Amino acid sequence: MLKQPVSAGDRTITELTVAELTGQQASHVQRHPDFASALRLQAPVWDAFIAMQAAARADGIELAIASAFRDFDRQLAIWNRKYLGHAPLYDEQGQLLNTEQLSCGERVAAIMTWSALPGASRHHWGTDCDVYDPRWFEQQQQPLQLIAAEYQHGGPCYDAALWLQQHASDFGFHLPYARYQGGVAAEPWHLSYSQLAAPAAGQLTTELLQQVLVASELAGKDFVLAQLAELKQRYIDQVCGPNEDGDAVWFG
Ligand SMILES: [Zn+2]
Repeated sequence: MLKQPVSAGDRTITELTVAELTGQQASHVQRHPDFASALRLQAPVWDAFIAMQAAARADGIELAIASAFRDFDRQLAIWNRKYLGHAPLYDEQGQLLNTEQLSCGERVAAIMTWSALPGASRHHWGTDCDVYDPRWFEQQQQPLQLIAAEYQHGGPCYDAALWLQQHASDFGFHLPYARYQGGVAAEPWHLSYSQLAAPAAGQLTTELLQQVLVASELAGKDFVLAQLAELKQRYIDQVCGPNEDGDAVWFG
C-alpha cells in the first residue's frame, strides 16, 4: 500500500500502512539514543516528549516512559495469557476476577477494560506512551505497576499526573483514558500525541481490524469477530479527545 500524505496545517502527515497501523510492522517508529532501546516512537513524538520532559524537569517533575510502541505479537501474547487464565483479570475497579467462572464475553470485557485488542492498540501507532515519575521506584527498588493508586493523592506519580493534566496539551499530547466512560479503565499514565494519533484512529476501520484478526491466533476469536463492531465502539472508539477537560476523577 502506498503511503499517502495528508495535509494537517503547515506540516504533512504520512498515513500509516495497514501493517504499521496494526502493529505488524515497525517501519514508522524508531529508537532514541537517550532512551532505553526497547522504546520506540514516531520521530515527531520523540521531539515532543523530550521538550515536555525538559519543561517538567524545570518544574521539579521527572517524566520517564514505561512503554511506547508495542507490536501485534506482543499484544497477542498479553491477550492470550489473560484469556486462557495464565495472567490475572481485573474489573474496572481493579478487583481480581476468577477467569474460570467467566463466559467468553465476560473474559473479553475484562481484558479490554485494561488491555487492547491486538491490531487495535494505540501503542501500535508509535504515537502513544505510558509515562511515570521514576524517582520513588528507583529509590525504593520497587517495580512500577501502572495502577491507579500510584497516580492518586499520596502516590509516587501524583505530582506528575497533575503536571501532565495541566501541561501535556502544550506539547501536543492528550490523555485518551483520562476517565472511565464504560469502556477502557481510567489510565492517567497513557499519553497520546494528538496530531498523529487522530489520523491513525480514523484509518482503523472494523473491516480492516476483522481482516487482521481472522488470520491471527487470537484466543476467543469467534466471539470477538461476532461482536467486533460493538467492541470497537465501546473499547476503541470511545476515548477522551484532545480538547476534553480530563477532570481527574482518578484523584477522587
Ligand atoms: Zn498505554
